[in-house]
Amino acid sequence: MKKLNTLAFLTLGAAAFAQTPDPEITAAAEAIEDQVIEWRHDIHEHPELSNREFETAAKIAEHLKSLGIEVETKVAKTGVVGILKGDYPGKVVALRADIDALPVTERNDLPFKSEVVSTFMGEETGVMHACGHDTHIAILMGTAQILAENTDKIHGTVKFIFQPAEEGAPPGEEGGAALMIKEGVLKSPDVDAIFGLHINSATPVGTIAYKPGGTMAAVERFVVKIQGKQTHGSQPWGGVDPIYIAAKIIDGFQSIISRESNLLVEPAVITVGKISGGVRFNIIPETAELVGTVRTLDPDMRELIIRRMTEMSEGLAKAYGGSATIEFQSNTAITYNDLALTEQMLPTLKNVAGEDHVKLVKATTGGEDFSYYQEEVPGLFFFLGGMAPGNTEAYPHHTPDFQIDDDGLLLGVKTMSQLTLDYLNAK
Ligand SMILES: [Zn+2]
Ligand SMILES: [Zn+2]
Repeated sequence: MKKLNTLAFLTLGAAAFAQTPDPEITAAAEAIEDQVIEWRHDIHEHPELSNREFETAAKIAEHLKSLGIEVETKVAKTGVVGILKGDYPGKVVALRADIDALPVTERNDLPFKSEVVSTFMGEETGVMHACGHDTHIAILMGTAQILAENTDKIHGTVKFIFQPAEEGAPPGEEGGAALMIKEGVLKSPDVDAIFGLHINSATPVGTIAYKPGGTMAAVERFVVKIQGKQTHGSQPWGGVDPIYIAAKIIDGFQSIISRESNLLVEPAVITVGKISGGVRFNIIPETAELVGTVRTLDPDMRELIIRRMTEMSEGLAKAYGGSATIEFQSNTAITYNDLALTEQMLPTLKNVAGEDHVKLVKATTGGEDFSYYQEEVPGLFFFLGGMAPGNTEAYPHHTPDFQIDDDGLLLGVKTMSQLTLDYLNAK
């Protein structure tokens, strides 16, 4: 019985994906490759910081309008959303590209090098697409063009989400995926599934890397405020030492990882990055503060670690005669690839990139705000190779020497286009 079921599934799977990759879509992507690279160069040369992507948004909106796509601008401050209806009714799929650059001064010697200077947190800085979001924009602009010219192949609706501030809004401002969702980007028409990609400087061109389930970490920032009782440094019995309590809490936090977290499920990290308290050698101060970050890849582990950190802070401070509070601020949720959707779309990735060029990879402890969409609807987020052929090493993202090879873009356009068609046209 079990064997029969497997066979039935395989037959159905083969029928549903028999036409992929569509040779006309492949040809259309190849025909616009030079144009996509040109867009990328232009955007790379004119980067804009998070929530300040005014010119970038204008270029995107103009392109989408020229394709006859219904366009909404100023979504989540500078975001652009395009809606393309296929010739036939069906589901709604969203495709997302993030559009912001970083306060990094470019050190590359390129004809399209960024010379842009701006102000970030009161300081003058160079601005650079040092995370490769310029490639995401160009890839999605190309995908929009191909799909707009092939509505006769589309059963359903495509929503193009060009999202600002993935790297985080400036202090005191809202932004990014969370604000887009708050402003209704996943509603009317309601999105059934979402796809997104991230270019990667250390993955060879032509390669797609993916992982089902937890792919990038939930990023939490935390602050522990410890209340003691001030006294002379020579007479600790006269007060309550918040520095000593801080040490106990840090130790307690690490025991949550090493003794309580099932690290066979996923890794997890707690880092205390800052300790402050006290003024001089012979005073035991009144208060101390710890600031740090938590990284998790599994929703249950995330819940356990946050609960236990709270109990550790409050309980340990109390045990030593003081008190403590802990506050968490979520920077991203878990970038969690829906298991069923990943299984459904994996044949498309393999058909487009070639079986040998699709790699199953480990999770990373970095964060991505695409995760917020995935908390609302099933989503698939994958990595696209951007390392030039022949290279074995690459400068990391967010650095002045970061580079992406133009040859990586074509596979991005092909994959996003084909994922859309295969998802919407699946029986
Ligand atoms: Zn980044
Ligand atoms: Zn990025």
